[in-house]
Amino acid sequence: MRYSDEVIEEVRSRNDIVDVIGQYVHLQKKGAYYFGLCPFHNEKSGSFSVSGGNKQMYYCFGCGAGGSVITFLMKYENLTFQEAVKQLADRAGIQLPDEDTSPQAKAMRDKKQILLDINKEAARYYYYQLRSPNGAKGMEYFRERKLSDDTMKQFGLGFANVTSDDLVRHLKSKGYQDSQIIEAGLASHDEKFGTHDKFWNRVMFPIQDASQKVIGFGGRVMGDGKPKYLNSPETPIFDKSRNLFGLNFAKNSRAGFFILCEGYMDVISMHQAGFNMAVASLGTAFTTGQAMILKRYTDEIILSYDSDEAGVKAALRGIGILKEAGLKGKVLDLRPYKDPDEFIKNEGREAFEERIRNAEASFFFEVRIMRDRYDMSDPASKTEFYRELAAKLAEFQEALERENYIEAVAARYNIPMDDLKSLVASYAAKAGMVKPASRPQSGIQNKKKPEDGAKKNQRLLLTWLTDEPKIFPKVTQWVTPEDFSDDLYRKVATDVFEGMQNSNFSPAAILDHFPDEEEHSVVAEMFNTNLVEIETKDQRNKAFRDIILGVRHAGYDRKKKELRPDDPEFLTKTIQMKKELEQLSHADISLDDL
Ligand SMILES: [Zn+2]
Repeated sequence: MRYSDEVIEEVRSRNDIVDVIGQYVHLQKKGAYYFGLCPFHNEKSGSFSVSGGNKQMYYCFGCGAGGSVITFLMKYENLTFQEAVKQLADRAGIQLPDEDTSPQAKAMRDKKQILLDINKEAARYYYYQLRSPNGAKGMEYFRERKLSDDTMKQFGLGFANVTSDDLVRHLKSKGYQDSQIIEAGLASHDEKFGTHDKFWNRVMFPIQDASQKVIGFGGRVMGDGKPKYLNSPETPIFDKSRNLFGLNFAKNSRAGFFILCEGYMDVISMHQAGFNMAVASLGTAFTTGQAMILKRYTDEIILSYDSDEAGVKAALRGIGILKEAGLKGKVLDLRPYKDPDEFIKNEGREAFEERIRNAEASFFFEVRIMRDRYDMSDPASKTEFYRELAAKLAEFQEALERENYIEAVAARYNIPMDDLKSLVASYAAKAGMVKPASRPQSGIQNKKKPEDGAKKNQRLLLTWLTDEPKIFPKVTQWVTPEDFSDDLYRKVATDVFEGMQNSNFSPAAILDHFPDEEEHSVVAEMFNTNLVEIETKDQRNKAFRDIILGVRHAGYDRKKKELRPDDPEFLTKTIQMKKELEQLSHADISLDDL
């Protein structure tokens, strides 16, 4: 359902962005803005700003995330535009127009909603197949893994038949097109077989997002086929690096921590045994994006990876990501069993609880793995271990924390405390001179690119206008939207000038006209560029003049480029524009009488 601009504007105006974001992020007022810690990247100082008043926008000066109250909710709660509008309407007690179910309206619905509908229908289909004679093999598999009917129902487990196009046929009978089914990640197309199911002869694990919507599937093959596990590809609704299996249930757990495991079956058997705080990354390595999502709910993560070599490696990597996200990590020791599923089946619930209580702080886990690489009966090797250990301890920035770890490690490995202390001190001194090796950034990249001067002037002008609309008459003396050099900037400037002329300027509404995520944050930046500190009237006039001249020069360059040399008026036009620029450079451009 697409709501009209008027409806959306009402929803926006009755949900003040400071109030709404304040429910998710602790905000503090600083001048005209509110600041807090960015929920979309890890940081210690607040570079996440929210502007109330007429602006109604958020913007992070650290990672470049920005948008309106609607797009904040979309990003934070992983909602579609329509869902976010609905949620905000409910919050403000606004009655939305009834959903229109005509075929035309259906065609108009945004693509994401269609993909969600297809995934939901597929989940329903797989669910019934598992419980029909076709699904006997799958049912046998789950029974062998000791899953109860309730658990299978809770997780919506299903079965993809041996026939290779029955899901496609089913979905087409419901009115979906081949291209939509392929885009949903449920089918492929080739010359030989036409459009055919992606999953067949597999037990199916629907992957739900935090608000219970099916966004993809994992499928385990029956028998020895390859690959053993197959996952939905990334689609507009399925971003593997920003979702976790089981989060829809685990987020309601009151345990105060999450258990992060490797696979679907681990999560399901843990939930069945009452450990409803278990989640898993989705067939890919654990990512920073996933860590940031977990951080919304807790600050402690217990890693429960397989006890084999690959599992240890994954755990070490996971610890690095948790640290980067500012989360406390612990590691569960499952030995002698391979994975939590096996452990719980053999030792039971209480024994598993005991292991959770004794989970090792991630630092000690790292040290233990490190020590296993050294031969402690060889003095030279032992010394090497101490050195590596001291270097690791020296990484703790805070003196008290470092002391505590030195004490604990000394006791654990029978190292004379003073010796270890002085060794660490010598490494800490060295570390002060060299920069610690930084891990390559995963997941969250800093979107800030090298500054483009021409664009910066255009951004500064748009931000200034937004923050101080009274300068508009001064601006229009010198600049029109046509002077903005870049296409996207020109579109936004046109909207801004129009809004100002008609006295219905709403930056958040303009922003929401650019739903594409990439464009959305570029536009958000146009309204949130850091203005230089201005103290005196002269500085203010100079800044204004510089910006106006900068915008006009960039505009001139663009217009000149667009002029065709074979245009009979090429010369007159070029000369005319040059003359205007020349006059401009002598003009009295100031904000003096404001
Ligand atoms: Zn940020």
